[in-house]
Amino acid sequence: MSQLHPLSPRRKTRSIMVGKVPVGGDAPITVQSMTKTDTRDIEATVAQIYSYAAAGCEIVRVSVPTKKAADAFPEICARSPIPVVADIHFDYRLALAAADGGAACLRINPGNIGGQDRVRAVVDKAGEKGLSIRIGVNGGSLEKDLLEQFGTATPEAMVESALRHLEMLEKEGFYQTKISLKASDVIRTVQAYRLLAKQVDYPFHLGITEAGTPFGGTIRSSIGLGILLGEGIGDTIRVSLTGDGEDESKIGHEMLRALGLRSGGIRMVSCPSCGRVQIDLQRVANEIEKGLKEIDHQGITYCVMGCVVNGPGESKDADLGVAGGNGEGLIYRRGELIRKVKEEDLVPAFLEEARKFKKEMDAAKI
Ligand code: SF4
Repeated sequence: MSQLHPLSPRRKTRSIMVGKVPVGGDAPITVQSMTKTDTRDIEATVAQIYSYAAAGCEIVRVSVPTKKAADAFPEICARSPIPVVADIHFDYRLALAAADGGAACLRINPGNIGGQDRVRAVVDKAGEKGLSIRIGVNGGSLEKDLLEQFGTATPEAMVESALRHLEMLEKEGFYQTKISLKASDVIRTVQAYRLLAKQVDYPFHLGITEAGTPFGGTIRSSIGLGILLGEGIGDTIRVSLTGDGEDESKIGHEMLRALGLRSGGIRMVSCPSCGRVQIDLQRVANEIEKGLKEIDHQGITYCVMGCVVNGPGESKDADLGVAGGNGEGLIYRRGELIRKVKEEDLVPAFLEEARKFKKEMDAAKI
């Protein structure tokens, strides 16, 4: 008899802190995103961070490309509900400013900031403030000599680049580091992480960079990150999409939940529908999902099924479920039929039950 292959045990990594959020070791795998606003626009950036946090984002990265952005950065950090990683390229003075401004972590590649003295200045500051550093190797911006040596941005070249950056930090006695190795294609990314996993114990930030639009990007990220997470590799993840940052966080959580690596958050099961369905299932599912966003439903499972063939059974595994009938809908609570309503009343009735359920759950916890 064939057996389901369990996921590999998680790779043993050192634990580092990104503000109050632990990354690596036994800490839960976290979900990150990056703001897409102009960092100089404090209001827009803070509003975006709040919307990400509401969607489950646990660490947010904000780019600090200029002095003006660095000036806005402290207020953004002070108002952010989640730790902020400052994304810096080349200019170590911006890293120092971001560290003073409240960053929880600096994303900076030590090899690109102009020498070991500058690395020392950044590391000293990070040590003084208790910050971690993320080395972010990107297949699209590898060092020239590595491209010459390896011909192109191969996984080996990416790993070599990461090791060089790491060495510069280790030389200064700094070990609070996490690493990402991002390529825009899945296979190279997977190979690079696998290779580096054998050589270091630093936690990994996983991502497929420039993954693309929501459709293709979700698929590429799910496959790439899914393979690695299944092999026990990965401590924090970011789904990069040319699209809404809130979706990046939601998709990230959904991936982790699909692999049983995280629980909680919105969990909604819905059937694909078929010839048996006699209600407008797509509308009902979309409207229910939208309505549920206003309810804080940590740990609650919902299911929306097109008909009574699988509805009652599936809803036994859910806290609250709905099954379509002929122009009507049946609402189940933990597998028990509790209401029968007309199709047009189904969404409000379901949301009413969801609110009631949530209230009772909260009361039971007190
Ligand atoms: S639950 Fe019913 S409508 Fe949905 S796919 Fe299954 S048989 Fe079809």
